[in-house]
Amino acid sequence: MTTCACANCQFYDTHMGGAAKHKEKDTGLCRFNPPLPQTASANTRAAWPVVEKSDWCGHFAATVERMTSVAA
Ligand code: SF4
Repeated sequence: MTTCACANCQFYDTHMGGAAKHKEKDTGLCRFNPPLPQTASANTRAAWPVVEKSDWCGHFAATVERMTSVAA
């Protein structure tokens, strides 16, 4: 049985790309929803939520396979 934690979720992404400020050892990005605006200003970029490996939420889905295939 898989432990319910972001680190075991198929939406957890360790690729921190533009989130350089959050390159903490035990964090990653949650890819369940699209990036969210951080302020009401139109001049700021949206960001993926940063979560800790031990976090979890009601959308947890055990990692089975990355959704990377493209329909032919
Ligand atoms: S916040 Fe929820 S959906 Fe996102 S990685 Fe964690 S368990 Fe998965």
